[in-house]
Formats: sequence, C-alpha cells, structure tokens
Amino acid sequence: MSRPVQAQLDLQALKHNLQIVRRAAPASRIWSVVKANAYGHGLDRIWSALGATDGFALLNLEEAILLRERGWKGPVLMLEGFFNSDELPLLDKYRLTTSVHSNWQIKALQNAKLHAPLDIYLKVNSGMNRLGFQPERVHSVWQQLRALKNVGEMTLMAHFADAEQPDGIVEPMLRIEQAAEGLDCSRSLSNSAATLWHPEAHFDWVRPGIILYGASPSGQWQDIANSGLRPVMTLRSEIIGIQTLKAGDTVGYGSRYRASGEQRIGIVAGGYADGYPRVAPSGTPVWVDGVRTGTVGTVSMDMLAIDLTPCPQAGIGSPVELWGNEVKVDDVAAAAGTIGYELLTALAPRVPVVTI
Ligand code: PLP
Repeated sequence: MSRPVQAQLDLQALKHNLQIVRRAAPASRIWSVVKANAYGHGLDRIWSALGATDGFALLNLEEAILLRERGWKGPVLMLEGFFNSDELPLLDKYRLTTSVHSNWQIKALQNAKLHAPLDIYLKVNSGMNRLGFQPERVHSVWQQLRALKNVGEMTLMAHFADAEQPDGIVEPMLRIEQAAEGLDCSRSLSNSAATLWHPEAHFDWVRPGIILYGASPSGQWQDIANSGLRPVMTLRSEIIGIQTLKAGDTVGYGSRYRASGEQRIGIVAGGYADGYPRVAPSGTPVWVDGVRTGTVGTVSMDMLAIDLTPCPQAGIGSPVELWGNEVKVDDVAAAAGTIGYELLTALAPRVPVVTI
C-alpha cells in the first residue's frame, strides 16, 4: 500500500465558487486568478473547470503559455506585467494582456517590435506601495502609453491592501478616483475581499483568487461561512500508528507535548514536507473518523500526532482530514499564525493529487 496522504480537488466546488463570484459581481467580467500554480491546486488540473470565466490572471509566462497550449483562447492577464523586455515578443506571440507599473516598461514597449498592439493594464499605486504609479502621475503616463503604436486597449488597475476591512477601501478609492480623473477608462480593482464585500469597487473586471478555491480572503472561515463558497482542496490521510501514553510521556521532537494522564494518540502520515505547517501548535484542529480533534506535539517532516481521546473507535487506517470540508484550511492556518493562501500554495509536489 502506498503512503496514504493525498490532496483531493473537488472541481464541482471550483465551478460552483465561480458561479458565486458571478452572482456577487453580476455586472462585471471575471479574471480568475490562477497564479502560483492556481494557488497550489495545479493550473493544468483545474483551468478547464474554470472554463466559464472571462479571463485568467496569473504571474508567469510559463503558466500563460500553458493555457494557450491547452487551447484557452480568451484573455490572459499578466498581473505583474513583464519582468524583462525579452518577454515582450512572447506577450505578443501569445496575445497576453500585460500590466504596466514602472517607467522602464513604458520604454521597453516603445522600443519593441510587435506584430500587433498589446492590451495594457496601467497599475495605480492606491496605497499599498508595492507596484504602480502614484495617482498624480497616472494622467501623463496614460497619455504617454496611449501615444505608442504598440499599445492597444487600456484599463486602469489597482490592488487593495485592506479590502477585508469594512472601511478598508475608502482611502484607496479616493486615490483611484484621483488617478482616473479626466480618463474615460475601464477599471479592474477588486480582489476576492472587494468582490465579496465592496460592490462599489466592482467596475468592469473583478479579480478574485482565493474565494475560487473556497478559502477566506480575511483568513477567517466564519467571514465566508454564509457565502456558499465550498473548499476545493481536501488534504487527507490515514492513521498509520497508535500510541498509548502514560502521564508524563511526551510526543515528538522537542518533547513539546506531555500527557497529563493516560491518552491514546494516532500517528498520521502527513508532515511539513507535505505542506502541513510545522508551526501548527498542539490543538490545531483535525478531523478523524468523523470526529473533530486536535494535533499533539511538534509536526514532523512526514508525520504528525493527533489526540484520539474524543474518538476511541479510531485505529490504524482511520481516515483523517488535515484540511478540507470538515476542518477548514483557514482554521489550520489561523492556528499556525498564517492564512489559507500560504498553506494551499505550499502543498508539496510529493503529495499525490486526485480530482473528483
Ligand atoms: N489581483 C492581484 C494584483 C493580486 O496580486 C492578487 C493576489 O494577491 C489578486 C488579484 C487576487 O487576490 P485574492 O486571492 O485575495 O482574491
């Protein structure tokens, strides 16, 4: 028998989540964000389940080319644009829309020899101070780009730092308004949080990522519990060992967990080399044989231990859900001091993936 850890991808849930986005932003087109190998789910595995999207947004040329080679003919947006002017002939060849956030990119566009103009997303720095032009510069940059023969359709783009907060887009929207003044332009502003919670920022194209995969943009599952979104990935395994501890016995590296009395624990195939966070403390939720329980001790490279007190019937071979429908990836992430995004994108290549 092979090692039982496995990631299961529910492609119906992915399709369903796209419909939820469609309902949340009915007047907008949707860029499905599939960067980082579709948030760890595997772009090649999942892209066709998102076939009802209006476009795919991603980061790497390799990922964009894969979509074209698989037959996707619709729009593809390079979220961070091109990293080097050598990439421009490929953007041209594969008809990719590119974001432009820096002066050097404008110069590169000016000098490039392309077969047809490229569609451009001009990125405004709306306050996150990562990429983008300051609002007061946008008008002149827009005119500069407009004048280039290599530039086709132009859209104004921004990204929110705090859209999960009720008042988190007030300031950024003022900056975006300032940038857009006097321009008759389409806009794409909204990540998942703004797609769900700020309809006033939907405009022409929304750009949801994490909610397509059924995890929360705020890091808290309860914030999306009533949205109808469904987790796509389930990381499952089995119990491969049982120990019965006596009072004072410890578990795992560093002996960080000590039993206060007799306690049955299960050893699960699954550890940090599979993408389960090593920093998850004792008590991180886990689902075993239909019962919610918690981890005990330090997560190892290939194994972790769980408390079987609430499930005396569990034994070798009992099914374990490390995250998925019963234990949300957001809950595991919160226990580990991170967000679902990080756990999903860190799924290790050694974990076999099946689609259902
Ligand atoms: N747009 C841009 C520019 C991004 O960088 C990201 C991801 O970080 C997204 C959209 C999607 O964000 P989320 O997964 O929070 O919806």
